[in-house]
Amino acid sequence: MKVEELPQVINILKKHYGNWNVPVKDLATRRGKDPFKILICALLSTRTRDEITAKVCDKLFQRISKPEDILNIPLDELERTLYPVGFYRNKAKQLKLLCLKLLKDFDGNVPSHFEGLISLPGVGRKVANLVLSEGFNIPTLCVDTHVHRITNRWCLIDTKTPQETEKQLKELVPKRYWRQINKLLVALGQKICTPRKPKCFDCPIENFCGKCGVSSAGLLSQSPLA
Ligand code: SF4
Repeated sequence: MKVEELPQVINILKKHYGNWNVPVKDLATRRGKDPFKILICALLSTRTRDEITAKVCDKLFQRISKPEDILNIPLDELERTLYPVGFYRNKAKQLKLLCLKLLKDFDGNVPSHFEGLISLPGVGRKVANLVLSEGFNIPTLCVDTHVHRITNRWCLIDTKTPQETEKQLKELVPKRYWRQINKLLVALGQKICTPRKPKCFDCPIENFCGKCGVSSAGLLSQSPLA
């Protein structure tokens, strides 16, 4: 894919996004626009499927809306609430440390700057960028596994790590598209451009995709016409 084709590709993906029933949309509805909820959801979602995270967030958000609420829940009870997200025991401890730090260093508010966010326990570039983008409407590029995989498959970039991908995309992609990339590519990655078996035969942007690293044999065997 050429970078000049990106506006067209984004427009096509936006049109399809509304019709795709994908877990990331459920999760986005749960976390809403509240930076604290976005932060909690993002931390719980690591190594956990979005549909599981969404259910746990539902349960948790009936009880909490601010850092003090998490600190008021006994650890064993918080662990039970977080089950079945992956590493729920570690995440329960991490949430408590995070809330302590928010109260101690940020008056109980989620910081709206990258340095503040990555100073929080368990928060890396991906989570920090997601909170800035979704919670504060700041143009950032949140590169997760879907964005990394798909932009490489497009042949738009050629990178080995999400961090390299973030750097290259920031150089190539106009800032006005940064906030849209994550939402659209996570949905595409959950629905069609899946990690093991991309459904190129069903992909609305196939004409633009270079399919770097995608084996044609694998694609044919997935085709409903094969
Ligand atoms: S054409 Fe295939 S590899 Fe390219 S984005 Fe679509 S599903 Fe992914």
